[in-house]
Amino acid sequence: METGAEEKFDNETCEDSDSGQNQDELMPSTSSRNQVGRKSLSGQVCSLKTLIDDQVMEPGQSILTMDYNGTKFSADLLSNGNIRDSKQIFTNPSAWFNHCKRQISSSDSMPNKAGSAWSIIRYKGKRLDSYKLRWYRKQKKIVSSATMYETAMALSKAASEKINSSSSGPSFSQLHKEITSPTNFFPEEYPVKEKNVVDHQSLGSRLQDRSSNIMVKCTPFSALERIQPFTISISTNTLLIIDFHCHLTTGEVIGYLGGTWDESSHNVSILHAFPCKSRLGDKERSTIIEEEIRQNLEQHNLTVVGWYHSHPFAAPQPTLRDIDSQLDYQMVLRGDSDVNYIPCIGLICSSYEPENPRPTSRYQAFWVMPPSEYKPNEFGRPMQMIYSIARDSFLTQDLLLDMRLLAHYYTDGPDSVKFTEIFRDGLTNWEKLQYSLQPNLPRDLTHTSSHQNPTQIQVQQQALSHFWAFLKGLILT
Ligand SMILES: [Zn+2]
Repeated sequence: METGAEEKFDNETCEDSDSGQNQDELMPSTSSRNQVGRKSLSGQVCSLKTLIDDQVMEPGQSILTMDYNGTKFSADLLSNGNIRDSKQIFTNPSAWFNHCKRQISSSDSMPNKAGSAWSIIRYKGKRLDSYKLRWYRKQKKIVSSATMYETAMALSKAASEKINSSSSGPSFSQLHKEITSPTNFFPEEYPVKEKNVVDHQSLGSRLQDRSSNIMVKCTPFSALERIQPFTISISTNTLLIIDFHCHLTTGEVIGYLGGTWDESSHNVSILHAFPCKSRLGDKERSTIIEEEIRQNLEQHNLTVVGWYHSHPFAAPQPTLRDIDSQLDYQMVLRGDSDVNYIPCIGLICSSYEPENPRPTSRYQAFWVMPPSEYKPNEFGRPMQMIYSIARDSFLTQDLLLDMRLLAHYYTDGPDSVKFTEIFRDGLTNWEKLQYSLQPNLPRDLTHTSSHQNPTQIQVQQQALSHFWAFLKGLILT
């Protein structure tokens, strides 16, 4: 459920004096001005000024046009991004759009839906939002041929450590084989009676007044007799950091998913989660955070392949707002052609969902099928994406550092979870967290193979209790 927590990712700084205007109209295909989907990773918001500065548009006389309910309007685009209509100046498209709308008495026949201004106003005859999309594409960083350097380093490190820790273990070649072939497994499914979730077909059209907090059940591809367009694997370390992030606060959290896209096998590997450590209304901070994440991705030679967020107390099904955000992301990452196409995945984590009988979090990976061009007023259909989980060999220093920073960020906050308090049935929140993290621990903290000798098992148990002590130190002191 969206409780307005997205406010925290609102980096709106250059949308001029638009506060006071109908904010929802600033951006095409997103229902809320507060969505991360609205911005480039650097946190920059796209305004007319941005489009001019980045040479996507040029100022000109009568270059902006609008046909609203049969009435035609035109205006000049000024070099500072303002719009001049006869003698009046408007600082952004919504302001001009609203002004024109007011001139038509029967204006109430047209609903005030999201993104109206950007989809109705045209520049050189083409919709404004198409220029915005062009700008987004220019912004996105595609790291081509993502190297697996880091993974290779990790694997060789693990291999050498295993050999050093046990001379009586399996041979190097056996070990190498064991370590280089990832142990993929599928997440366990069990029935949960989800609350407040509706089916896509019951939604009707956008023209009806609906709360953007309505959750929509994801449709499996099999139900439409289709095949999932690409396969997904998520590393256990990614899930660990997401799960930890989601457990720290009763508020919603958000972050990006970094990974690689293999065009030939049509597989997305999600290898890294980049949590956003920012809170409601902290605009300055969220701008810095997004810039940090962008640099971090580059350092890791990874591409953005999606985003995650939490529904702390609700089912992991996307809301109408999530669906629109996801569509927005899909558009941005789609690229201009098949060559630079990158899929984009939404992942929702439900950490404290009351209907979940187990103490483990539930996840839903989703993708949105856009409405057909003949039914533009329909909502996109959220599709259930099946993924496998790839078990990492060990926890990375990055991950431990991220956990430390996250704990530090949330611990004293007003929305922080108190881990000494009872979750339910006599289980403390701390114990609940341990249960939830357990399935996604790396190989060196998990009993995986039968050919482990007692020494190896002992070392493993010691390492595990170290890890719990480390976490405990972060959140229970
Ligand atoms: Zn949501």
